[in-house]
Amino acid sequence: MNVIAVIILLAILLSFILDLVADILNLGMLRNDLPEGFEDVYDAARYRQSQEYLRVNTRFGWMTGVFDLTVTLIFWFGGGFPLVDGWMRSLGYGPVITGLFYMGFLLLFKSLLGLPFGIYSTFGIEERFGFNKTTWQTFVTDILKGVLLSILLGAPLLAAVLAFFEYAGGNAWWYCWIAVTLFTLALQFIAPTWIMPLFNKFIPLEEGDLKRAIMDYARSVQFPLTHLFVMDGSKRSGKSNAFFTGFGRNKRIALFDTLIEQHTVPELVAVLAHEIGHYKKRHIIQRMVISIVHTGVVFYLLSFFISYQGLFDAFYMSQPSVYAGLIFFGMLFSPIDFFLGLVLQMLSRKNEYEADRFAVETTGDARPLAEALKKLAANNLSNLVPHPFYAFLHYSHPPLRERIGAMQAFHRKIAGQ
Ligand SMILES: [Zn+2]
Repeated sequence: MNVIAVIILLAILLSFILDLVADILNLGMLRNDLPEGFEDVYDAARYRQSQEYLRVNTRFGWMTGVFDLTVTLIFWFGGGFPLVDGWMRSLGYGPVITGLFYMGFLLLFKSLLGLPFGIYSTFGIEERFGFNKTTWQTFVTDILKGVLLSILLGAPLLAAVLAFFEYAGGNAWWYCWIAVTLFTLALQFIAPTWIMPLFNKFIPLEEGDLKRAIMDYARSVQFPLTHLFVMDGSKRSGKSNAFFTGFGRNKRIALFDTLIEQHTVPELVAVLAHEIGHYKKRHIIQRMVISIVHTGVVFYLLSFFISYQGLFDAFYMSQPSVYAGLIFFGMLFSPIDFFLGLVLQMLSRKNEYEADRFAVETTGDARPLAEALKKLAANNLSNLVPHPFYAFLHYSHPPLRERIGAMQAFHRKIAGQ
């Protein structure tokens, strides 16, 4: 084993242990009594159920984690990477096509191994807790559509990246940077109108009290809301949500049908105010800029490693190639991405507080958003008492009780002025 192999192996094992420790701490936080202030949305039985949901999902996470780790190590140290490489090279195509086959094969292999876990999660766990609404037909067509989209959209982009590193020499990294950035921007632009409708129905919110209230609010904060949709989230799950997609003139807000069923008009306006808050506080642009810079840095570093023999030795590959270098570099880079991910999550949690404050300020009240978030938590069986370390590792949103506390404090502050 060379030093690169040791670094990658340690990173894999460390991240596994870190997750395990966080999970154990997290489960250790569970108490029988309902936290104060949630009496109106949970009864004792519902609260117990939310804890059971956490326990079941944590154990399931351990099962998949151990399985993934075992498969990765067997595949790696059993010489899986050069074995598959031999098969793909024997087909006799050029480096780009061989690379597409190689990566496609590994992806397919990984997806097939993960399939039983996906089935158990949807039809076992989610079903047991009353969330699952996915039919087998939807489950299968979702997979087929996903595969088709990866081939139609992912394969050409991957081919471009492989070709640049194969033929463009020292310019490859910034050619790739530009190509991936343009591709991502285009994808975000077409996703709401071309891709998401492949999976869900989006119908404009019908005229009525709700639409009127939302439009009045949007006007009061000068937000040009022309695309307001209801999404049939109930097609797959009883869980509910709302989200913002697209940008420029193509931006739109989608509310899950399940959300509309469970909330009052002021609560829904507050949820929408939070989403608009993300836009107004420029969180969406900020994310995009960070991701573009990140892409550039990754490709720049990749350009140094892609022909470094040590990287290939670590995986027993005697013949270096651009496509294998791409995969191995991804594994070598994952610890850096892990720390970057932590920073991004911290930023995301800060942004959530900001969007909450925007909603409280512009609706003049903290109660509707707090009620909406509590109902959402109860409906989705969210964990109300995450361990701080677990939240630090995994949460893109602040823990609910802290969020509500911050909102109420902010409301008292602006009301007192
Ligand atoms: Zn948010």
